[in-house]
Amino acid sequence: MSAEITKTGEALPALDFGHAWEYAPSPEATDHVRIAPRHELFVGGAWRQPHSSRYFDTISPSTEQKLAEVAEADERDVDDAVQAARRAYDRYWSRMPGRERAKFIFRIARAIQEKARELAIVETMDGGKPIKESRDVDLPLAAAHFFYHAGWADKLDYAFQGRAWRPLGVAGQIIPWNFPLLMAAWKVAPALACGNTVVLKPAETTPLTALLLARIVEEAELPPGVVNVVTGAGATGAALAAHPGVDKVAFTGSTDVGKKIQRAVAGTKKKLTLELGGKAANIVFADAPIDQAIEGIVGGIYFNQGHVCCAGSRLLVEESVHDLVVRKLRDRMATLRLGDPLDKNTDVGAINSGAQLARIRELVAAGEEDGAERYSAPCALPGKGFWFAPTFFTGVAQSSRIAREEIFGPVLSILTFRTPEEALEKANNTMYGLSAGIWSDKGAKIFWMAQRLKAGVVWGNTYNKFDPSSPFGGYKESGFGREGGRQGLLAYTEVGQ
Ligand code: ADP
Repeated sequence: MSAEITKTGEALPALDFGHAWEYAPSPEATDHVRIAPRHELFVGGAWRQPHSSRYFDTISPSTEQKLAEVAEADERDVDDAVQAARRAYDRYWSRMPGRERAKFIFRIARAIQEKARELAIVETMDGGKPIKESRDVDLPLAAAHFFYHAGWADKLDYAFQGRAWRPLGVAGQIIPWNFPLLMAAWKVAPALACGNTVVLKPAETTPLTALLLARIVEEAELPPGVVNVVTGAGATGAALAAHPGVDKVAFTGSTDVGKKIQRAVAGTKKKLTLELGGKAANIVFADAPIDQAIEGIVGGIYFNQGHVCCAGSRLLVEESVHDLVVRKLRDRMATLRLGDPLDKNTDVGAINSGAQLARIRELVAAGEEDGAERYSAPCALPGKGFWFAPTFFTGVAQSSRIAREEIFGPVLSILTFRTPEEALEKANNTMYGLSAGIWSDKGAKIFWMAQRLKAGVVWGNTYNKFDPSSPFGGYKESGFGREGGRQGLLAYTEVGQ
């Protein structure tokens, strides 16, 4: 096996795990989950057909089966939603005391907890991520974001050091497909807590949990129009970002679309926050707890199909431990279980869409053309659906596309360094700056690096840890503005001097 990779060096033989990692199937039951065959728009507290009467299909990326059809909102629908949000802002939400807003937001948080199982299953069916991830990461964090922000709603006078503040008005929020419900929670919870009303546009490949969130909003009896959900593709998002009645645009997605949105709001009074792409460096020093680091590397890129903007997609390894890390990583990858995302033992789920899979394949081919050495985990890929085996490249040049461009798939590029200065230079040598990870036994080294890394979030001896009280956001082309924490409230308020 070791012959498959150059620079494995180590005399130790590769481990053969044989059948030790074979598990009996353990699929999550889905018979209690009913997905309605058709979904309308949630506007002004009511479910409405789109003006165009057009619907698009949302499919399961692991089976390619149609799950439901979803309304396609055009400019007129977006206009209705923005107007409904404006009325709700003027009549109810901006006038309501914070402690009353908090009660509604707490209700949403509790309902998410109560319906967590159903929401996790639908998230996994619509998006392809393993149920382990949606159940243990997405859902608890989505509820936590509503709880956290409900707590702020009546304490905002203390959030800005005594300065006067006011809400912005109507927030247009456009979110991607990698964490559909969690991104909705990140955006809706702080907006509501600060007294804004919302028009939310989920991604076209994963609209279902945002629509279930709208049901929760309805059941929580929020005043009509405080939260509106308009489904559709890029044109719907563009209509929302460009609508003159929107006071604030919040976007998470690709850097290309982020730039378009920035152009669309330029010269207007709209406040804008953008959370865009990333090409995070996960930096492993020779003195790091290597086995722990391997878990962090695997969790940082493979457990979510690399579908995370903060994925640790560049691994920078100190040269003296390169061969050891590569061997251990390869051994660990041999144990990853890829397949049915609804199976509770699955580690690696489906790629979100055919288009995404095509992008991953293109970049992997570019990596091979550039002369990097490829290793893909030996897992059988299901016949139906969109799949890509966990992969890494060694011998990657900094100039290679796989070291520079966001792949958004389970593909890791491994580079080496000799000194902390070189690690820093390589880590910062990117147009992005969303996140980074540092693995070392020396706390002082971690702090030295963290202060100099141009990344919004830096993890030390861990990776992909999130908390609603901790602000998240980027440097450079990864965007601006922070979500979460006290800093995240600034994105939804106008604060006086
Ligand atoms: P990704 O590359 O991660 O799929 P995108 O940036 O394409 O992300 O999509 C993120 C969100 O932005 C989705 O909800 C998508 O429908 C929306 N979107 C796509 N194009 C535009 C646009 N021109 N204006 C506004 N929103 C858009």
